[in-house]
Amino acid sequence: MQHVYIRCPNAHYFTGARCPWDGWGTPATAELVEVCRRLRDAGGEPSTSALAEAGIDVQLLDSCLIAEFGDEGFAFEAFWILGGAGVDAGRGGT
Ligand SMILES: [Zn+2]
Repeated sequence: MQHVYIRCPNAHYFTGARCPWDGWGTPATAELVEVCRRLRDAGGEPSTSALAEAGIDVQLLDSCLIAEFGDEGFAFEAFWILGGAGVDAGRGGT
């Protein structure tokens, strides 16, 4: 299963509509989560092209990471990148 990690302006990546650390989220992140759910319900998987076709904002997609784990047991909710704060901060589909 593909996991879509959304980038928060504070260099966090998270799944779901809101960052678990600072609560950041926008209507666009909520829409992305909903589109991912619909894709999976239809038997598909989220990909940048499928999400773009579904109307997800390209600027938001640019900052997303889509990952697939060999074993779902290793999937996680969120992570943050060291030294990443400030890199394109604010790009997140506001
Ligand atoms: Zn955050």
